[in-house]
Amino acid sequence: MISKKLRKMGEERGFVTANGICYGEVNGYTVTLYEDGNYKNVVITAGVDQTAYQNLMANEKQIRDTYRILLHVQSTYVIAQFAGLSAKPEKISAFMDAFTAQLDAFGCKKSECSCLFCGMEMEPTSRVTKLVGGRAMRMHSGCAERLIDDLKTEEQAAAEQKSNAGKGLVGAVLLGLAAALPWAIVYALGYFVAWLGALIGMAVVKGYQKFGGIVKKSTIVIFAVLIILLVIFAQLLGDVFQIGYTILQGEIWGTLADIPFYMNLLFADSEYISSFLLNVLLGVVFAGLGVYGIFRTLISGVSSQSKKIVDLPDSKQ
Ligand SMILES: [Zn+2]
Repeated sequence: MISKKLRKMGEERGFVTANGICYGEVNGYTVTLYEDGNYKNVVITAGVDQTAYQNLMANEKQIRDTYRILLHVQSTYVIAQFAGLSAKPEKISAFMDAFTAQLDAFGCKKSECSCLFCGMEMEPTSRVTKLVGGRAMRMHSGCAERLIDDLKTEEQAAAEQKSNAGKGLVGAVLLGLAAALPWAIVYALGYFVAWLGALIGMAVVKGYQKFGGIVKKSTIVIFAVLIILLVIFAQLLGDVFQIGYTILQGEIWGTLADIPFYMNLLFADSEYISSFLLNVLLGVVFAGLGVYGIFRTLISGVSSQSKKIVDLPDSKQ
């Protein structure tokens, strides 16, 4: 994603806008501009070897203080994140000029003339611009094909990998049952309980993984069913605890063997049933919130990366 202002600044410098990013050349480095959340990001594709990395790190504090940015350094790119007052387009523009000149001095390799995939020299005719991991990258057209092929092979292997769902489910049920206990106890004590659904959700996913299960899109349906069943179970167990406790206290007649009798009484009451269902529903919602983050990372990890690598138009006039 890119805002109008940032895009205007880029385009004034001859940058090209495509696929939600704005990119171009600054001082021989391919630079990508994009925004996420509160940050305006400048990704500079550059070869960063050991020496260049050490030079960058030795000057990191000075760079941060000068430009008021967060700096992340990887072997093929450097990301500068701007936020708040320092995120003005003119400041970002000045940063790009000054910082790329500094990169030269630090010993970084310009992305214009060497392919970051194979490290070899690149003639303008043999190179392509690709969107890789959300940033513009120059490489040999042959290297781009190899990169995509490699990714496809990896994805194929991941897709064919056995999900081990049987073993995983044993773990999911075991940990899920253990996580139902806190719910039952907290409910029996008379406190608001639905938030503990998050614990049940996380226990199911963690248990599945601990026992060797591989999460795939298809297993998410199983998780959903299991979580609903476990929340219902936890809620029922909570009633059992509560009734059992009341009987032991002598507040109601009978022995622990009479628990089913009292459960039947409870479920004859429509008001009770609605509050039961509400608890279960809220619990499932909280469980969903608890596992949402885990699912998102897992799914983006297995989703097709190779398809996200696309051609970008060349920005060099
Ligand atoms: Zn190459």
